[in-house]
Amino acid sequence: MPPKRSTRTKQTAQKSTGGSAPRRALDQLPSPVVEHAGEANASKETIIEESDDYCFVCVDGGHLNLCSLCPRAVCNRCVTVPKDLPEDVVFICPCCHEAKEVLRPYFGLYRSMDDFHEGHPLFPNDKLRLNQAYQLSAKARVCTMPTIIFNFRISSISGPETVGPAVLQQLKGYYLAEKGLMYIDLPFRIESRSDRERFTRGLDKHVDDLNNMRTPFQRVLLLITTHSDHDRGDLFTYMDPEDQNKSWALQVHQFSEAIFTDKFCNYVSTKLATGFLFACGAVVTKEESHKELKDMAARLHLDDMLAFGAPHFHPILTWAYIAESIQQFVIERKDMSAHLASFMTSSVGGHTSICHIAHEKGQVESALYVYANRAVRPYGMDLPPQCPECCCLRPWKAVPQPLPEEKKKGDEDFTAGKLAEHQISDPDEVRLAV
Ligand SMILES: [Zn+2]
Ligand SMILES: [Zn+2]
Ligand SMILES: [Zn+2]
Repeated sequence: MPPKRSTRTKQTAQKSTGGSAPRRALDQLPSPVVEHAGEANASKETIIEESDDYCFVCVDGGHLNLCSLCPRAVCNRCVTVPKDLPEDVVFICPCCHEAKEVLRPYFGLYRSMDDFHEGHPLFPNDKLRLNQAYQLSAKARVCTMPTIIFNFRISSISGPETVGPAVLQQLKGYYLAEKGLMYIDLPFRIESRSDRERFTRGLDKHVDDLNNMRTPFQRVLLLITTHSDHDRGDLFTYMDPEDQNKSWALQVHQFSEAIFTDKFCNYVSTKLATGFLFACGAVVTKEESHKELKDMAARLHLDDMLAFGAPHFHPILTWAYIAESIQQFVIERKDMSAHLASFMTSSVGGHTSICHIAHEKGQVESALYVYANRAVRPYGMDLPPQCPECCCLRPWKAVPQPLPEEKKKGDEDFTAGKLAEHQISDPDEVRLAV
C-alpha cells in the first residue's frame, strides 16, 4: 500500500476561459526565465508521484482534495467537502472508493486509513455528493508530472512534418502556462564523424542544462522520426534526396550509438520514459532489426516504446491513434499492454500493425498488434483485393467456418474470410475492368 500523502488539499490554477484583460504594450514582453541551480535527479525507483494538478472529474485545476491512496485529486466544485476540516483527515477519491467496494454510499472522509478499511466514515450521516459528470472515465488520471519532449528527426524531414509539434500542442492543454512542459527539437544529419560530434555535443549540452534545473523533469517523451531501409530495417542518419547512394543508413544498434549519447541515456534512465519510432516497418518486421530495436529501448531505459509495421509508413494515417495514445497513456496513465488494442481503429489498423516494446525490471518484451475485421482482415490477415485469375474485385465473402481451437475464447462469432466460389456473370464487364 502506498504511504499516506501528507496534505489533504492543494490549490492549483484554473484554466482560463477568456473574459477581460489589461491592455499591454509589445515592449513589455518579458524575456524567458531560465531556471538554474543544481539538484541531483532521483533514480527511476524513487520517483514519487505527486498528486495531480487537475481534478480527474472535471479536468480542471482549483481547490483540490487529494486522495490519500492514489495521485488523483477532486476539486471543490465537483465534490462538496465541509469547510474547516483538519489537514490530517483522510480523503478517498471516488475511484479508490469504487475499487474497494462497488456498491456502497460514498463518504470520502475518514479520520484514519484504518477507519476507511473498516468502513467507519468521519461523518456517518453525511455522504459526499459528486456534483458533475466525469469528463473522462471514472478511473482516469490527469497526470501532469513535469514532462520533456525530445523530438529527434532526420533533418530532411522538417519539424512541422513530424508529430512533435502536435504532441506538444495536445499536452499544452493540460499544462497551465506550460509550467512543467518543455520541448526540444533535435534535427540530425550525420554523414561524417564531425557531424556526429557536433550533434552529440549539442545533445549533451541540453542534458547538462536539464540536470541543472531546479525542478527536474520526471517524465520523458522520446519521438524519433527517420527513414528505414525497406529490406533490412536499418535506420537513416542522413538522407540524400538526389542520390540515394549518398544516404547513410545504420544498423539499429549503430544508429542508437550514433544518436543517443551515454549521458542522454543516463538522463532518461531516471525518468518515466515513453518512446515513439516513426519509420517504415522493416525495422519492426525484420528479425534482426526488431531485436536491435528492443536493445535500443533497453539502452534508453524506455518503459514503453511504440513502432509501426507498415512497409511504407504514412505518419498522417496514424495521427488519430497517436493523439489517442498520448491522451490514454501519457495523461490518463493507463497501462499500455492492457489498452493498446482497445482503440485501434480501421484507419490506423488498415494501414499498419503496431509494435509495443515493454521494458520492465530489465526484461524487454515485444508484442505486435494487428487489426482484425471480419470483412477485410480476418484474424489480421489481408484478403486479396482481387481474384488472382479473373481479376474480379473482392470476389470473396465471409463464410462461417469452424474456429481454430485457440481462437475460440471470447471470439465465438468471428468468421473467417475465404475466397468464395464465383462465376463471371458478364464477361464484357470483366474485360473492361482488366
Ligand atoms: Zn472538478
Ligand atoms: Zn484515489
Ligand atoms: Zn475469379
